[in-house]
Amino acid sequence: MSVYLVGAGPGDADLLTLRAAQLLAAADVVVHDRLVGARVLELIAPHTLRIDVGKIPGTSNSQADINELLIELSQHYDTVVRLKGGDPFVFGRGGEEALALSRAGIDVHVVPGISSAFAAPLLAGIPVTHRGTSHGVCVVTAMAKSGSAVNFERLANPDITLVVLMGVAQRASIAAQLRRGGLDAATPVAVIECASMDEQRVVRGRLDELADFDVASPAVIVVGRVAAIELGLADVVEDLVATS
Ligand code: SAH
Repeated sequence: MSVYLVGAGPGDADLLTLRAAQLLAAADVVVHDRLVGARVLELIAPHTLRIDVGKIPGTSNSQADINELLIELSQHYDTVVRLKGGDPFVFGRGGEEALALSRAGIDVHVVPGISSAFAAPLLAGIPVTHRGTSHGVCVVTAMAKSGSAVNFERLANPDITLVVLMGVAQRASIAAQLRRGGLDAATPVAVIECASMDEQRVVRGRLDELADFDVASPAVIVVGRVAAIELGLADVVEDLVATS
């Protein structure tokens, strides 16, 4: 009679928390969304019921339907895992699900996950903060609740790093607003597609080129001086693992 809202990390199963892996092995039912990596789903026990509530535009389950489903499942199963990409409370609407469940009197437990907001820049070798280069990071979505557009002009600040989720479709408008807000045309930008997955791809350039980047979702956009850095951390980690 418990629902676990579990972060699945950015895609690679090695980036799950141990608690998430244990819960996937022990769950009676797993309700997951579209961005959860295939290798993560392989950790679910074979007898476990799996429900994909992936929100593909046009065919989407509404958030209210998902909340209802979780409430109903919790009445029939002991351990319900709601598996969400990245961290459950970073733009995953996990907060709404947790509220709906607790209002219905259901025990909710939250398991943090590694958010793509931080993992994607890191896996591209970009430190989101760097002494002397960027003294902070702002994580923002381009997709606000319908009707209320995010004001990127107000977010233009050359001293901090901007990490934009769900921003690929609106990259031209984001770049134009940041320019109007005062960011230099030459501000470095990087877009990381499918971070941590086999298809991971990084495209780099300048803010005035962002509109023309050939990129597709899921991707994280990084704007700021640090986006020009490429530390090769992923290689370092792979070498360490290979030699240890
Ligand atoms: N809760 C998730 C974010 C959900 S919103 C998290 O913490 O990561 C969905 C957006 O996340 C996507 O549009 C994309 O911007 C980003 N995203 C999720 N997984 C990603 C990945 N593996 N690579 C790049 N971006 C990703």
